[in-house]
Amino acid sequence: MDIINLVRPNIRELKAYSSARDEFSGQAEVMLDANENPFNSPLNRYPDPLQKEIKQMVAGLKGTDPSRIFLGNGSDEAIDLLFRIFCEPGRANMVSIVPSYGMYRVAADINDIEVREVTLGPGFELEKKRLLEACDNETRLIFLCSPNNPTANLLDRNTILEVVRESHCIVVLDEAYIDFSSAKSLIDELDHYPNLVILQTFSKAWGLAGIRLGMAFASPQIIGLMNKVKYPYNISVLTKEAVLKALQHSGRVTGWVKTILDERNRLTAALAENRLVVRIWPSEANFILVRFNEPDRVFTYLRDHSIIVRDRSKIILCDGALRITVGTPEENNRLLGALVRLEKEMNPL
Ligand SMILES: *Cc1c(COP(=O)(O)O)cnc(C)c1O
Repeated sequence: MDIINLVRPNIRELKAYSSARDEFSGQAEVMLDANENPFNSPLNRYPDPLQKEIKQMVAGLKGTDPSRIFLGNGSDEAIDLLFRIFCEPGRANMVSIVPSYGMYRVAADINDIEVREVTLGPGFELEKKRLLEACDNETRLIFLCSPNNPTANLLDRNTILEVVRESHCIVVLDEAYIDFSSAKSLIDELDHYPNLVILQTFSKAWGLAGIRLGMAFASPQIIGLMNKVKYPYNISVLTKEAVLKALQHSGRVTGWVKTILDERNRLTAALAENRLVVRIWPSEANFILVRFNEPDRVFTYLRDHSIIVRDRSKIILCDGALRITVGTPEENNRLLGALVRLEKEMNPL
């Protein structure tokens, strides 16, 4: 597949903005090239437009090359850029699984791109045939998410790769929750699939949602297009400092993930004992999708006791379900305690 044929003509022609830091990125004693203020070091300096230091460390961690990495202001930036690069407004379409992450549709709507939703199977599985049938000549992007939000399951690896092989467009695989799952990332497959884009994030397992840093992994050709279209200085010096520090202490992340997975198991077992609960789906992520008999009543009761969960009860395939993020042991105990009290209120013996 020739990726360049999928690119909007104006983007193909685009000459990227060349900043002072693009033209000289080394260390000099006297920096008079960028109209910066000489005072207030180090925040007076513009950041590296291509974030070479961060990418070097991420490449080591993920076993890939810096030329295959894009860093953005959250995954949201990568999602929006893919629309702006590949989708002609008012003409192109995208195909997304549902239920899934709401941001794919919002980005499509902002860019005036038709959304074609393909419902997952009854066990939340990816149905390749129906997905490919929804595509046509104007399809530029397919969005998959594994582990999927909010259903918490993994999509089948071989089915994903078949979609990548058999479609004629860019396939975006969102792996925001991969660090909590039993599956391996598909980053290892990127060499074989020039139309595959994998999204990961520092917002979940890394505990850095506040700094806004998302990653995209793809062919150097797609990464080059993303670099050309992004804002020149999209990652701030503060974000860089925070993430370099986190990357130097990555053992902490392993510990957090282990605790969260232990707590996920404990929460699952305790919820199964509660008569308000109808069904708990297995989770490969840091949240649990739980079906309740009376989800509105549970949601309101929890909220009135200062515990907020995500109401997914009106979403396709998720009737009656609330999505519960795994918290600290203390937070999870508060949730379980509140649910036991509500159970007693609703089923007095
Ligand atoms: C939380 C989440 C993200 C993370 O988005 P950021 O913009 O990187 O914070 C991405 N994809 C999915 C499916 C998510 O649930």
